[in-house]
Amino acid sequence: MSKRYYFDHAATTPLDPEVLQTMKPFFRDKFGNPSSIYQEGQQAERALTEAREKVQHMINAADSREIIFTGSGTEADNLAIKGAAMARKDRGNHIITSKTEHHAVLHTCEFLEKHLDFEVTYLPVDEKGFIDLQELEEAIRSDTILITIMTANNEIGTIQPISRIAEIAEEHDIYFHTDAVQAAGQLEIDVQQSGVDLLSISAHKINGPKGVGALYVKKGTRLLPQMQGGAQERKRRASTENVPGIVGFGEAAELAVKRLPEKRQKLIKFRDKIIDTVLDEISEVRLNGPRGDQRLPNNVSFCFRYIEGESILLNLDMLGIAASSGSACTSGSLDPSHVMLSLGLSHEVAHGSLRISMGYSTTEEEVDYLLEHLPSVIQKLRDMSPLYEG
Ligand SMILES: *Cc1c(COP(=O)(O)O)cnc(C)c1O
Repeated sequence: MSKRYYFDHAATTPLDPEVLQTMKPFFRDKFGNPSSIYQEGQQAERALTEAREKVQHMINAADSREIIFTGSGTEADNLAIKGAAMARKDRGNHIITSKTEHHAVLHTCEFLEKHLDFEVTYLPVDEKGFIDLQELEEAIRSDTILITIMTANNEIGTIQPISRIAEIAEEHDIYFHTDAVQAAGQLEIDVQQSGVDLLSISAHKINGPKGVGALYVKKGTRLLPQMQGGAQERKRRASTENVPGIVGFGEAAELAVKRLPEKRQKLIKFRDKIIDTVLDEISEVRLNGPRGDQRLPNNVSFCFRYIEGESILLNLDMLGIAASSGSACTSGSLDPSHVMLSLGLSHEVAHGSLRISMGYSTTEEEVDYLLEHLPSVIQKLRDMSPLYEG
């Protein structure tokens, strides 16, 4: 394949070569089951403990026993929301979330409404994607048991005021879960400082392997396991652990912590260069999400009027550029993204969305290549569009 320019790190990231090296022995030589008492098992168990401590360190949890490894970020979200909701059913059945959550959260909430008689409030967001804390307070009822609001949005990069939400939740004795899958590796995460009760992360979004995630569960938080079987993960997530995956997750977490300051500085510079150049060189374009510190360092999202996101992606792909329109999960369907519609955009505008997401490996040369080609791709598509009167 000729040189590719990968701008879809929010969908997934390339596995870091150092991470792969640490995983390799655990596929064959170190194959033991961590639950076994002989040496092979204990070797695997020690590797799990080490990885758990690295993930603990990345989010500054007080104790490594607060980390539950799962099969993905999606599973961590499911376990947090269903697990907390079912464990607290004696206190109420009302959950609060937002309209711009990832489907792993939204569809889980909808499932609880439909099949288990929970009631869910979906908070609206403003034109930049923020929830309103006043509206959050007003939505709280005596039977509210859980608030789940993402740390940062995967499509538009909006960072929610997590510490303030955690304070409000605590005042009312409500559990607070946050999906931090997109924030990990981009922002410092400190669960002790922010005061969240439950937090989800995923390895493949931080240059780790696919198929492994983690849920932070603050000590004392009630959680009903969602999988029945063995006593793994302190009886909170049955099934033999994915040892190579978890080892890779630990290594990726350690690298993410080490690389964060430099990576953040670099990506903020690239992000702002892309935003400034596109707003300057292309007309009738809208930046989705905020500018500055309240936006993820690696995320840029635009809507270009008169054209379709899908055709932008196909044209970029032919030039060697991989980007996305909305999220990877909604592509393939013709509906515009629920996030874009929640910002108050019309279907027509929402259809012209483009997400550019960067990562550790992104270079300035790649950014310049993108900026060299994007304006002409947009112009070409507009020239063909019956809606456009250039
Ligand atoms: C990718 C993503 C998920 C899902 O994680 P998987 O490990 O792919 O299941 C959940 N939430 C957000 C915000 C994401 O970006």
